[in-house]
Amino acid sequence: MSLKNLLGDWSKYRKGHEEGGFHKYEHMWGLAIDLNKCIGCNACSVACYAENNLAVVGKDKMLSNQGMHWLRIERYWDEPQLGGDDRDFQERGASFLPMMCQQCNAATCEPVCPVAATYHTPDGLNAQVYNRCIGSRYCSNNCPYRLRYFNFYSYYESSWPAPLHMQLNPDLSVRDKGVMEKCTFCVQRIRTAKDTARAENRKVIDGEFNTACAQSCPTKAITFGDMLNPDSAVSKKWKAQQVELGKAEQHKANRDLRGYRVLEGLNTDPKVLYLERVREV
Ligand code: SF4
Repeated sequence: MSLKNLLGDWSKYRKGHEEGGFHKYEHMWGLAIDLNKCIGCNACSVACYAENNLAVVGKDKMLSNQGMHWLRIERYWDEPQLGGDDRDFQERGASFLPMMCQQCNAATCEPVCPVAATYHTPDGLNAQVYNRCIGSRYCSNNCPYRLRYFNFYSYYESSWPAPLHMQLNPDLSVRDKGVMEKCTFCVQRIRTAKDTARAENRKVIDGEFNTACAQSCPTKAITFGDMLNPDSAVSKKWKAQQVELGKAEQHKANRDLRGYRVLEGLNTDPKVLYLERVREV
């Protein structure tokens, strides 16, 4: 999308899926994450580091909020009064919330970029063009989920000392300082799957590829797929939870269903569905 389009058609664009979408979408990649199954092992986050050439910045920079993890596991501890439990929080156990870019259909990060380095693709992805990014960080300030990460240093000089550089993924770049980074739903895997399907004159088959996080999760808490395919596993999960794209407020016939989207009321139309954890009290 050009800058002219982005600014001129913003109101139409903002409505996103609600009115059939600004683009004619080819795919609509989405996730469903079952928090009942998540054990907080961080395998998804580690797989994301390996797949996407994420820099390991070290403890000091993590403490200064300069981590480059595109997928973070948020930990929440029970309040004692919830379970009538007066043990220390370390003994009460935690709930985990894997948070990656929510690939919002009406993404608040996109219109504020002065050079249109972040834009919406015909796959419904919120893409980041590193070569166009000038590091203004407006997108990060405007992301309500805080899921964009600014690259402050030339990490390639120190992050992968030999022989670790041998494990870098050749399918995507190693970013330099001064650009904003974020989860792409493993766009390099999406591109490979689409190219393979095109070469074989067929459609992309549900489950033929996965994001690194979904692939590595030992409890299969994460489901990835095309939400335009009504038979995909991810579409079925959204449908079963009566959560729909393009709605800031869901009207569920069954209020006991666990599906929800984070900060949905902001009308960002995120494409990550969470299935609430069921608590024993
Ligand atoms: S790999 Fe699966 S179980 Fe482990 S933290 Fe990630 S989502 Fe949770």
